[in-house]
Order: sequence, then structure tokens, then C-alpha cells
Amino acid sequence: MNPKMLFWMPAALRLLMVFVGAAVAWLCFGAVAGLLLCSASLIMLVILQLYYLYRLGGWLDNPRGQKLPDGWGAWTDIFSRLYRLRRDDEKNQAELSEWLARFRQAMHLLPDGVVIMDDVLFLEWCNPAAERHLGLQHGRDKGMRVTNLIRNPDFIDYIILGRYDQPLLLTLRDRKLVIQIIPFENRRQILVTHDATESERIDMMRRDFIANASHELRTPLTVINGFLEIAQEHPNLEPHVRAGHLKMMIEQGQRMQNLIGDMLTLTRLESIDYPMRPERVHIEAMLKNILQEVEVLSAGQHVFSLRIDGPDINGNTEELRSAFNNLVSNAVRYTPVGGQIDLIWQNTQNGPQFVVRDTGIGFSAEHMSRLTERFYRVDKSRSRETRGTGLGLAIVKHVLLRHGGTLGVESSQNKGSVFTARLPASIVASETTDLLT
Ligand code: ATP
Ligand code: MG
Repeated sequence: MNPKMLFWMPAALRLLMVFVGAAVAWLCFGAVAGLLLCSASLIMLVILQLYYLYRLGGWLDNPRGQKLPDGWGAWTDIFSRLYRLRRDDEKNQAELSEWLARFRQAMHLLPDGVVIMDDVLFLEWCNPAAERHLGLQHGRDKGMRVTNLIRNPDFIDYIILGRYDQPLLLTLRDRKLVIQIIPFENRRQILVTHDATESERIDMMRRDFIANASHELRTPLTVINGFLEIAQEHPNLEPHVRAGHLKMMIEQGQRMQNLIGDMLTLTRLESIDYPMRPERVHIEAMLKNILQEVEVLSAGQHVFSLRIDGPDINGNTEELRSAFNNLVSNAVRYTPVGGQIDLIWQNTQNGPQFVVRDTGIGFSAEHMSRLTERFYRVDKSRSRETRGTGLGLAIVKHVLLRHGGTLGVESSQNKGSVFTARLPASIVASETTDLLT
């Protein structure tokens, strides 16, 4: 049956029943009784409608707090439909809140910043990454103009020019940010920020590496070429002058060879395919050997002490020897005559470590984080004098990394430095097993 009929049929039937009842009363008890019954029934019906209308009005004022009655007649159907509507609405609302909670959580975890602004750049909402990148605070800055909050001339120019198809690279609070504005919904705009500090740093390191490597190779080549030209132009040079030139050419050739050797070592250490092949590292023999070598380098100008308090380990002897050797030869090269150099091999709760302590020139804190970068040298002129390439600590870092270790550095200018090669406890070799045998 169609809905119209469903409504009108019972209503008509109810009215018909009232009239039939009134007619019966008229016939049995007279006209007055019939009319009285008819009007009483109609008044009852009207009161019932008014009562349900009143209940409906009250319910509409506060649909959540009140319960709908079961109703009577057509009201039963109306109330049950309203009840279904409310139930569907509650379900939709619950789903919507769940989605909103998920969306909020995703926005909180997003590494990129998102700011929603209206058409005149008033801040409506932003996520925590945007707060970090741009120095905003949602609670405090909501409703304020973004150009008043981010007072950077490049950013303001970007907004004024409105060339939003191109992203903007901005340096803000020591971070490199890629910023893009995307208009949406006609009256709103999204500002997206991406932190490119790390990728920019890697890019810069790559550029620096190429520039430095070319520069480092060019310097000895220029010296060698210079002497070769002299030899060509002056074939009859005094033998002792020629010998001096040859000595310098050999030194520069050696320097180039060391440099290329170090670069190849680094590339090899960095390659993930290069296997470790651990063996028992006889620490005492290795450190005594290193000490002998650096005593030659020091030529009696420094006082050394060696203390071995730790166990042997499983690792790559050659790699560790070159790393430890670098730390010790750095101590020699960067400690003036008469300085003290202490070498300590010890076991700690976290694992064994090799400590190299010197009373040398040290360096200030700003160099600390860059020290293990390739070619990085604190004092370029001095390193040239000491023939350093700046690759040593980069190699140390990689060797330690391959052994699951880290490099700790403490230093203070003109007072000395402490370099600590920390290795994990898992690397300690057992007393009896010798992987070589
Ligand atoms: P290479 O080791 O490749 O021959 P290098 O010694 O100059 O050259 P690294 O060993 O990487 O290079 O050291 C980088 C820089 O760190 C050095 O140039 C020096 O400025 C500083 N440095 C390293 N060790 C010390 C130390 N013990 N005292 C003071 N400065 C140091
Ligand atoms: Mg070195």
C-alpha cells in the first residue's frame, strides 16, 4: 500500500467508527446521547493529537535527553520514523567523530606541517609539525594573520606575488623549509611545510666532497707539475737542488696515494655488500704495535702511557688497527712538543672502549658535530702543515659503525681532547675461543 493510503485509511476508519458509534447511540438512546458521544469522541481525539504534538515539541527541544512515547494511531508510525532517524544520525555522528579522531591523529604524526588559513590568511588550524617548523602555537595564534606570525620578508613576498605553483625555499629558525600554498574550497588555503634541512645537508656534503677531493688532489699535482716544468726548462740543475725537488715530488705523490687510498677505504667501508668477516682481535699486541709506530711519528717529543684493562674482541683487526691508529696519530699531530698522550683499553658496563687522551691544541665545541665529515679539518692551514687529509675520523666513524660502536669526542681549546671508541658488549671475545684457530 502506498504511504498516503497507509496514513488516510486508518484515520478515516477511526472517524467512521466514531460516527457509527454515535449513530448507534442515537438509535438506542436518542439524538442527545448520539450527539454527546460524537462530540466527546471528537474532543478526545483532538486532545490526544494536542498531547502528542506537545510531546513532539518537547522532544524536538532536546532529542537526546528525552524518550519518545510509543504514540497512538498515525503517531506510532511518525514516532518510530523519528526514532530511526535519530538512531541513524547518532551512528553517522559516531562514524564522523571516529574519522575525525583518525584524521587528527594522522595530522599529528605527519612529519610535514599543515596550516589551514581563510582567504585573508587568518589562521584556522595547524598541526604540531607546522607549529615546530613555523614557531606557531595553535591555541595562541588561532584567528591571527599568518603574515603577522611569520615575519620573514621572503615569505611575505611569496604571499604578495601569489605564485603558488612554485614552492618557496625558506630558512627559518635554522631550518631549511620547502613551503607551498594550495588554495582550496574557494575561500580557504592550505600551507604545507616540508623540512629539507637533512637532505640539503647531505646535498651540501656531496658538493663539498667533490670540491674538496678535487682540491686536495689538485694541490699535490700542481706541485709535481711545477717541479717537472722546472726540470724541463733547466736540465742542468745542481744535483742537490734536483734531489730536493725529487724528494718533494715523491712526498706529494705519496700524499696523493694516501688520499686516494683513504677515499677507497671509505667507499669500501660504506658499501653494504662488503662483508665484515670477524676474527679474534688481539688487543694487547695491536695496541703495542700502534704505540711503537706513533713513537716513531712523535720522535720523542711526547710522553706516552698505555693501559690495557679490557678483553680481546671479535672484529676486523685491520679495520680496527687503522681506526685506532688514526686516533693515536691525531693525538700526536695535534699535541705540541712535551704533551702527554694516554691510551686506555678498558671494559665498561656497556662494552669495551678505547680512550685516547691528549693535552694538545683541542678545538671549540662548534667543530664537534662536523669532525667526522670527510675532509673536515678544524684548522686547514695547520692540517696542511701536518699533511692531514681530513678523512681519518670519517674512516674511524665507519669502522666503529660496522662493529656496532660509536665515537665519543670531548675537547677544549688549548687544553686537550679525549676521543673514545665505544664498542658493544656483544663484541667481547670469550676467554677460550679463538675464531682464527
Ligand atoms: P688524516 O687523518 O686523514 O690524515 P686529519 O688528521 O686532518 O687527516 P681527521 O683525522 O679526520 O683528519 O681529523 C679531522 C680534524 O679533527 C683534524 O684536521 C683536526 O683539526 C681535528 N682533530 C682530530 N683529532 C684531534 C686532536 N686529538 N686534537 C685536536 N684536533 C684534532
Ligand atoms: Mg687523522
